[in-house]
Amino acid sequence: GFKMGIVGLPNVGKSTLFNALTRTAAAQAANFPFCTIEPNVGEVAVPDARLDKLAEIAGSKQIIPTRMTFVDIAGLVKGASKGEGLGNQFLANIREVDAIAHVLRCFEDGDVTHVEGRVDPVADAETIETELMLADIESIEKRLQNIVRKVRGGDKEAVQQERLMKAALEALEAGKPARVVEVDAEDAKAWRMLQLLTTKPVLYVCNVGEGDAASGNDYSAKVAEMAAAEGNAHVIISAQIEEEISQLDPEEAQMFLEEMGLEEPGLDRLIRAGYELLHLETYFTAGPKEARAWTIPAGTTAPKAAGVIHGDFEKGFIRAETIAYDDYVSLGGEQAAKEAGKMRAEGKGYIVKDGDVLHFLFNT
Ligand code: GDP
Repeated sequence: GFKMGIVGLPNVGKSTLFNALTRTAAAQAANFPFCTIEPNVGEVAVPDARLDKLAEIAGSKQIIPTRMTFVDIAGLVKGASKGEGLGNQFLANIREVDAIAHVLRCFEDGDVTHVEGRVDPVADAETIETELMLADIESIEKRLQNIVRKVRGGDKEAVQQERLMKAALEALEAGKPARVVEVDAEDAKAWRMLQLLTTKPVLYVCNVGEGDAASGNDYSAKVAEMAAAEGNAHVIISAQIEEEISQLDPEEAQMFLEEMGLEEPGLDRLIRAGYELLHLETYFTAGPKEARAWTIPAGTTAPKAAGVIHGDFEKGFIRAETIAYDDYVSLGGEQAAKEAGKMRAEGKGYIVKDGDVLHFLFNT
């Protein structure tokens, strides 16, 4: 599955957000830096209205949404790359995630201590990014030393690694994250294998006060500006509101949202933004037993998509029968779509499209 790491300075609202996401009290929110010591891992259903629609048409007994994993990663402070706070553990946890949801404090509250004693989300973002860059520099320098002998011996892989690490180091030493380095297709895999922290895509989460949830505030506007300049994404959320909503039943939640002037929970936007950030798409399977959503990276071929359900589906893949979501819905289901000639048979080279309703035929 795909993993998003929730990071940020202490007391910015990470645990509150994580609680809301996973609807558990597992990540205890408390007005105390370092309260999230162990990384908390939670699975979140990806909200998708299309799935409910498909289930209704197919008369599915069960609805199974696709899932995304969130990891609440222990607080990072200035000096983490030097082992301050929970630094080393933080860095190890962050290596394992696909993308970073970086929570920034965009609310004022005299009762909630800010580690730097002031609310400044742009400076906070820089503090964290600096630690990540320092950690990358340190790990590259170590690894460069480790491969010196192999490079001298002409080991092709080591030579490639060295070249990529030096390119990363040049950017990092100029104060830029490694993600600014442009990498050719043939280097893409080796580049990913370096697992640099500053190559992970970033989604800034502006945690605003309750009153600013609909429109944002001056702080979130500054973050939006920074994110745009970097080519990163941002969402505006009130973690406290989200936590309250997560405890309500759906009808109450809807009323609460309307009162707040919000169209949908911020968490839905957050999860969708994560999907976009990771270039993920959804396809569906729908029948009387269940309607189910599955996650794939954009550009996935039919056999690989089948493999998400089961390895055997990929190995024995014969073909996929596919109906576009819009056809399925407008024609009123599989049979009708088939009769209208909207069910296509697709082979191994077919690139699955977001919203495809699929059946796989395979040899066992
Ligand atoms: P973490 O250290 O980043 O995980 O932060 P927490 O989620 O534990 O939040 C720290 C404190 O800030 C808690 O007392 C929260 O209730 C409070 N908090 C979180 N979000 C907001 C917010 O939007 N507004 C206000 N006023 N307080 C918040």
